[in-house]
Amino acid sequence: MGRKFFVGGNWKCNGTTDQVEKIVKTLNEGQVPSPDVVEVVVSPPYVFLPVVKSQLRPEFQVAAQNCWVKKGGAFTGEVSAEMLVNLGVPWVILGHSERRALLGESNEFVGDKVAYALSQGLKVIACVGETLEQREAGSTVVIAYEPVWAIGTGKVATPDQAQEVHASLRDWLRINVSPEVAESTRIIYGGSVTGANCKELAAKHDVDGFLVGGASLKPEFIDIINSAT
Ligand code: PGA
Repeated sequence: MGRKFFVGGNWKCNGTTDQVEKIVKTLNEGQVPSPDVVEVVVSPPYVFLPVVKSQLRPEFQVAAQNCWVKKGGAFTGEVSAEMLVNLGVPWVILGHSERRALLGESNEFVGDKVAYALSQGLKVIACVGETLEQREAGSTVVIAYEPVWAIGTGKVATPDQAQEVHASLRDWLRINVSPEVAESTRIIYGGSVTGANCKELAAKHDVDGFLVGGASLKPEFIDIINSAT
């Protein structure tokens, strides 16, 4: 089964209404391959999700950067998976290393979140550092390999380093889940991806796309989308 190239843009905790408008304009005007070739998902902060979703070109999708671990209720400050579904937000990023490091999210907690989000019908971008904690089958999960040392540092993994880890993640899926899931799951790379280094990484067999932080706020994000071809 072919794996469609995937490019995610994680805006993190950045943006004002004016900046968001500008980024969306750049995305909407960019020349990119057809949605048959590349799946593009951008992830603004929660408060900008509705406006981005309504203004973004229809072939691009949106993701939340997080959601709560179970059904909503008395959890001040949290946003539930049900709310995202209700708003028509199809994707959610879970287990980003910044949340693991700064907010103490454990493998177990992230695993519970992934399971709950999938049970509600969300598609999940599950971020792993050096370990893999999620093994859901039959739902859409994109695994983002994001070496902590490469995130926001300008120190990108070499194409060979990324390929080696992606291949071992795929082997893990093959052994622990099934050959079909291993073949169909997209394993994307994140950590200092730029317009300048994306082509070489994208050429690797087991690199099925990117999760982009800093560069997703800049026009070079279009070049990264174009590395799909
Ligand atoms: P970066 O972030 O591209 O700014 O290194 C990647 C990420 O955190 O997803």
